Amino acid sequence: PVPVIAIDGPSASGKGTVAARVAEALGWHYLDSGSLYRLVALAGMRAGVALDDEARLAGIAAALPVSFEGGRIWLEGKDVTEDIRAEACSVGASKVAALPAVREALLDRQRDYRAAPGLVAEGRDIGSVVFPDAQLKVFLTASAEARAERRYKQLMEKGMAASMESLLRDLQERDARDAARPVAPLKQLPDAELLDTTQMDVKQAVSFVLERVPA
Ligand code: C5P
Repeated sequence: PVPVIAIDGPSASGKGTVAARVAEALGWHYLDSGSLYRLVALAGMRAGVALDDEARLAGIAAALPVSFEGGRIWLEGKDVTEDIRAEACSVGASKVAALPAVREALLDRQRDYRAAPGLVAEGRDIGSVVFPDAQLKVFLTASAEARAERRYKQLMEKGMAASMESLLRDLQERDARDAARPVAPLKQLPDAELLDTTQMDVKQAVSFVLERVPA
């Protein structure tokens, strides 16, 4: 089978950056599964759908008119790369992600990314649900304070206002919701390598993963 590296972990742990760089180093495909949940939330909010309307949101997820081209994310032909990173979309994504029918509707779309020579996929349930047969599973985490601080710096660089207290609170609420939901909760799998990046930079984290890629 085409090899898969599954990188799961909590919000703002840096798994997106690490996964993208690992994919680049290997010349493999890359899947940011969180962007799909963010897109469902954004499309739902724009259509005025309540974020607990499971049937309508599952319909949106199944038909999601999204394309990933030129390093940008397009929803119905509009560039939403920045829009889906807004805090409202983060919160909305973790709400729609708790709905089983939405998760089900996104499953095949995620599995379609598995293509030669290989795939690096990141999210919350990649190693548990989407690709349980992944050749390498990594649970990438960092302390909540370190994660809030990284998010804070990112926002400052973009000239966006933020407070550490509210970022930390949002992260912890989102983590709690992701870990507590009955379907595909975020958890560290027994067969996943633990990568705690609290005291690490991106380069070290990328090396950690690359060193463990099975030949
Ligand atoms: O990874 P990111 O923070 O972009 O994901 C946004 C939200 O989407 C998460 O808080 C989580 O609730 C949900 N998600 C998920 N399963 C995945 C990826 C993301 O439930 N595989």
